[in-house]
Amino acid sequence: VTDGPGRLTTSWATTWRTLLGAAVDVVVPPRCVACAEPLERVDRSEGAGAWCDVCAEGLQPAPRPGLFLYVGGLATLIQRAKYSRELGAAHALARLMADRLDTDALGPIDVVTFVPAHWSRALWRGFDLPALLADAVAVRLGRPRVSLLTVRRRDPRLAQTSSREQRQQLVAGRFGCARAAAGRRVLLIDDVHTTGATLGAAALALRGGGASVVPRTLALTPDDGTFMAIDAPDQ
Ligand SMILES: [Zn+2]
Repeated sequence: VTDGPGRLTTSWATTWRTLLGAAVDVVVPPRCVACAEPLERVDRSEGAGAWCDVCAEGLQPAPRPGLFLYVGGLATLIQRAKYSRELGAAHALARLMADRLDTDALGPIDVVTFVPAHWSRALWRGFDLPALLADAVAVRLGRPRVSLLTVRRRDPRLAQTSSREQRQQLVAGRFGCARAAAGRRVLLIDDVHTTGATLGAAALALRGGGASVVPRTLALTPDDGTFMAIDAPDQ
């Protein structure tokens, strides 16, 4: 899934789109991707894909950089993608993000990149959710998805600490930035935004590399620490 820093991966994104289309078509009869209830009616023109009305209405818009709050069916789907390693769930999330991103609000974007997981995490999971989200968004925008960030080190203390200040300190300096970032306006994609420490460090690395950054995350947790334990294993 990952490639070298700065390599263009438009062909991979095209492959992904083909695979996703095939995956969606084999689901007969269609079921809600979030709750698995059979769907009486699938209206793909609505843009949210195969979500039942209940789950679709349960999607709660979040303030930027988030698209939706990390609650309900969306939270369940994200946990299935991240911790149960369900590729179908990951593809459904990627489709949701690409469909529902407010592209008008982004301004001109040169490239799409993502917050990378440590390689051992991506290997264990078999795929990297933020990379899949970025692929789908790149296809929607007609821009290349480029791996601009590398993980320098992983601090095991991150999984234990819930203090915002501590997390920011631990995450600072975590990412390296490819030279290809210089002078570009970069859309930075992540899956779940909890404290902002990881996204902030990634944005800082890109800006340090000469890019301007527009961050977006699929989900934003309510800023009260409620979901910290759920998100912590990946941070
Ligand atoms: Zn549902």
